[in-house]
Amino acid sequence: MSIKNILIANRGEIAVRIIETCRQLNIKTIAVYADADQHAKHVTMADEAVHLGSTELADSYLNIDKIIAAAKKSGADAVHPGYGFLSERANFAEALSQAGLIFIGAPASALRLMGSKSAAKQTMLQAGVPCVPGYQDDDQSEATLQDAADKVGYPILIKAVAGGGGKGMKIVHNKEQFINQLNSAKREAMNAFGDDHVILEKYITQPKHIEVQVFADSKGNVVHLFERDCSTQRRYQKVIEEAPAAGLSDATRTDILNAAIQATQAIDYVGAGTIEFIMDGDDSFYFMEMNTRLQVEHRVSELITGVDLVAWQIKVAQGEKVPLKQTQIHAKGHAIQVRLYAEDPQNNYLPSTGLLELVKLKKEINTLVDSGVRTSDSVTIHYDPMIAKLVVWAKDRNLCIKTMQRILNESAIFGVKTNVAFLSKLLATKSFKRHQIFTNTLDNGDLDLSHNLIPEVVAICAHHLLSKESESGVWGNNNGWRIQGVQALQLQFLYQGENVMHEITKEGSSYLVDGQYHYTPQASDLCHQHRHHIQVIHNDQRYELTLPDHEAQTFKSNADAIYAPMPGKIIEVKVKQGDQVKTGQTLAVMEAMKMELELKVERDATIKSVAYQVADQVKADEMLIELESE
Ligand code: ADP
Ligand code: ADP
Ligand code: MG
Repeated sequence: MSIKNILIANRGEIAVRIIETCRQLNIKTIAVYADADQHAKHVTMADEAVHLGSTELADSYLNIDKIIAAAKKSGADAVHPGYGFLSERANFAEALSQAGLIFIGAPASALRLMGSKSAAKQTMLQAGVPCVPGYQDDDQSEATLQDAADKVGYPILIKAVAGGGGKGMKIVHNKEQFINQLNSAKREAMNAFGDDHVILEKYITQPKHIEVQVFADSKGNVVHLFERDCSTQRRYQKVIEEAPAAGLSDATRTDILNAAIQATQAIDYVGAGTIEFIMDGDDSFYFMEMNTRLQVEHRVSELITGVDLVAWQIKVAQGEKVPLKQTQIHAKGHAIQVRLYAEDPQNNYLPSTGLLELVKLKKEINTLVDSGVRTSDSVTIHYDPMIAKLVVWAKDRNLCIKTMQRILNESAIFGVKTNVAFLSKLLATKSFKRHQIFTNTLDNGDLDLSHNLIPEVVAICAHHLLSKESESGVWGNNNGWRIQGVQALQLQFLYQGENVMHEITKEGSSYLVDGQYHYTPQASDLCHQHRHHIQVIHNDQRYELTLPDHEAQTFKSNADAIYAPMPGKIIEVKVKQGDQVKTGQTLAVMEAMKMELELKVERDATIKSVAYQVADQVKADEMLIELESE
């Protein structure tokens, strides 16, 4: 049958992206939304929208009954689940089919099998697909797990059987740490997935994440659309993805692509899927998991092959064959995607919530901007803090990197902390250019991404503020800078969490910084300002500074006390009044946005008081533990 109306059981950028293809195919779209999303972009774009319920996920995007009722009411004949949410739930696929609706996704049997990391690995081992050595059996007793870990050898990785999105994973470096990390992994897994079963895997020390986009139809045809390298990760989550994988030998590429086809055939798969492999320093690769859905990074494969994967999903869901044969699918050029997150790379990538005062994302030929938000929307704690995906295609990798840097520099986001400057700096590193980024590079702190504030940037900033002063004359003395005479000013701001102060003297069109450096701002220097926030682009590098005042209210250092970085629940308090603690020690653990956050102290100190206990709910910025003053 041919699909004419699709209900999209998702939100944000992926809902928007699916609507775009449906429009091209002349398919009617029905959006669904929770209270918080009443005016969201995906709701305004769809032909029709159905309200599901409150902002609670169980009352909205995860509520199968409400979604089916919405589909029935709006006359949908198919449901696209996007990624995340219900996309990999076998019972959702089954409930839809019982209701006479087409699920635009994988068969329930494949969702069930691949949804369990242990069952998936057992299946792949049987099919002869290489897997990471480890333990994936049912016996979950502490003794058995400890024993298995000792046999595999350290370092070892503990993963939640039901895991996804990098949650519930813990690395263990030695035997002594094992039980502690096991408990933490189990707690996180129970919290996020309602299932605390784990598997153990040998930890690959120079890991590259290489995955293959596969596509299958119900007639037994299976093709691949080449591989993607997603090794640039933080906390086991992808930040930059590209296709094809750079530095892969032709022989290894052929082997990986074949292994992916073999894995897909082993489970009678239908639809779009991704086989994820981990590759070691010696080019040996192992199956990690299969994602039985559209992947966040599917765009890079689309850009090198010219295929619209959502259009293919719809065709295959209505019973058609995979549109192209393997020999008709070719890869051309290079594509890179960056995920723009509302988060603070300076502070452990902590999500940053708030009003998006300005979102200006550069779009041009050979680039894609997938975003579910616009200026004036908010990033909330309810959903994923991804603001957008920027995707660039170019004829080769170097040009692709250059274009992406430019696109990032010409984009501006104000209102929340973002990883834009971080991404731009990352793309500029030798390690990235030489494709020497491994999945643990960022977490190990192996890359120096700190960014010295060079005097040129201070001069550009002063130039901008002075021109603004002469334009409006309304800028006061207490916004972080003060005009001392006609030609001199003192500039004070926060840069990468530090207070910075500079004296600047104007001499003609040139600026003298701290009596030492001369600089004349150039036409290629950009300066965007929004309220107290300033973004300077100089020599293709991006610098973000904040004039004080504003930041003073939100910027809390952990030097005098430990504050809650976001709303959440206390799950562990490791100290009591009078304890002596050392720099970097974890004092408490919070659970927020389904993640465990370790709250660390920034200096050696004595605990003055502890304000909360385990299971307490806390608000953002509340003081949790007070330290004796220095
Ligand atoms: P990948 O698809 O590349 O493996 P992820 O595992 O990070 O990357 O993507 C899936 C995750 O995205 C989900 O597990 C969920 O946490 C998150 N997610 C779910 N729905 C949305 C959404 N609408 N917008 C953004 N992120 C979402
Ligand atoms: P998820 O379902 O959360 O995506 P994965 O099994 O795909 O979990 O692993 C997520 C990431 O964790 C990988 O992309 C990789 O960076 C890292 N990882 C997973 N397994 C290993 C391993 N055995 N050794 C080293 N790193 C690993
Ligand atoms: Mg994965």
